[in-house]
Amino acid sequence: MSRIPLAIVGNGGAAAEAVLALRAHGYTGGIHLFADNEHAPYNPMLGTYLVSGRIPAGRVFPFGDRTFYEANRVTAHLGNAVTALDATRQVLATADGASYQYERCLVASGSRPSVPSVPGLGEALAPRRPRFGDGLQGPKTHARRRVFTLRSLDDALSLKEAVDELRSRPGSPARSAVLGASFAGVKVATVLHDLGMRVSLIESESHILPTCAHVDCARLMEAHLLADGYELHLGAVLAAVEIAGAAATGRNARSGMVRLHLGALPSEDIDLMVVCTGTRPALEFLLPGQVDVDEGILVDEQMRSNIPTLYAAGDAAQGKNLVSGRREIIGLWSSARYQGRTAGRCLAGMASGHPGAVPHNITHVGRMLFATVGRMDKYDRLTVRRERDSLQVRAWRDERLVGVNLLNCCRSAGVIKQAMMRAATGAATDTEATWTSFNE
Ligand SMILES: Cc1cc2nc3c(=O)[nH]c(=O)nc-3n(C[C@H](O)[C@H](O)[C@H](O)COP(=O)(O)OP(=O)(O)OC[C@H]3O[C@@H](n4cnc5c(N)ncnc54)[C@H](O)[C@@H]3O)c2cc1C
Repeated sequence: MSRIPLAIVGNGGAAAEAVLALRAHGYTGGIHLFADNEHAPYNPMLGTYLVSGRIPAGRVFPFGDRTFYEANRVTAHLGNAVTALDATRQVLATADGASYQYERCLVASGSRPSVPSVPGLGEALAPRRPRFGDGLQGPKTHARRRVFTLRSLDDALSLKEAVDELRSRPGSPARSAVLGASFAGVKVATVLHDLGMRVSLIESESHILPTCAHVDCARLMEAHLLADGYELHLGAVLAAVEIAGAAATGRNARSGMVRLHLGALPSEDIDLMVVCTGTRPALEFLLPGQVDVDEGILVDEQMRSNIPTLYAAGDAAQGKNLVSGRREIIGLWSSARYQGRTAGRCLAGMASGHPGAVPHNITHVGRMLFATVGRMDKYDRLTVRRERDSLQVRAWRDERLVGVNLLNCCRSAGVIKQAMMRAATGAATDTEATWTSFNE
């Protein structure tokens, strides 16, 4: 077994920031980074831009190419996933069969798509299907995958390849479906629609963006999407996915590649589907019963877990949500970077802490721009301001601003987030006074 001073599991934004902070704050020891992929640290939120063609593949690495590892004196074990981590014995094992005794470890393994258990969906998501349902080997074009998730760089490149191929075909526009009207789901739907595809958005809840949009905001966005030609299936549950058999050729093969069974609704034949039904932390390698895990690893302000030698940051960690006051997964690029930076500083021996984050996000929904700050699920009072095509919904609890939805008036989103952070950390007492003057 090899002995190493510091292990980092994962190579996303949290891991890269930790590396930079370690070196910037005088850590001179060895850093062994383990990644289940072969590339430089990638930013998953650029996946939709890659698919749309707005940025080339080379622009998805915010910390530069793979020379990042060498430049920061990192021993990078690329393409070698961590398969088991015994936090008590401080030992990790990797896919190539090796094991390492570490002094300290940072888990920055992010999250993976959470896919509902639906008959046929797992098979449809498999990278390449060698056979069709009737047991025959399909023609090469039929073997192409048509159902995707969007998290890793591989996901984005595979989806782009399929989208580009469908768009290059003559005839009527390809039909696509997006399962889950989450933030990622509406982003993907907007991209596919902008690329000329017909888009169905399928959501099991009664309105789009169910975890972050107030229903009044959601209804305006839904009306806009319908007017722009999107199809919406709200309250619809995907019951089964069927892949067209090898017998389907020519026109049928195109229009019927994937059949979606939607419970009581008529089934839909589509060319391509993207599953955007949420994520779960990538922590399957942790030995059970050692590390305090809720969904992610529970960490303090120094990003330490209950085991002093084990740290966690990014989507794999539950730091403080400043609005709820609870430890939750924030699931944001900025939060992953702040947490990674904090972990790196602490591991380098600096006194540092990350007080927590305020959830926020912004996206195009069709041609509308929607931003959310804080949380909209628990409030005792709402204030609503409508102006022409814009809408603001503010949620209050105990006379404290806890959440804001902004539709087509998103310029103040950053100021609101800062104000909420100041209020939560005690730096300001009147949240509304802090931001309304910036609001015009
Ligand atoms: C489509 C999409 C849109 C998004 N939009 C936004 C947005 O608008 N704004 C925003 O702030 N955030 C957005 N996000 C979220 C943001 O990208 C994440 O919160 C952030 O990237 C988390 O960083 P991380 O370093 O914790 O994890 P990741 O970026 O997931 O990196 C973790 C890395 O660890 C690797 N890994 C996992 N398991 C293992 C293992 N066992 N061994 C070795 N390596 C492993 C993974 O392959 C991955 O490369 C979006 C995400 C997606 C997918």
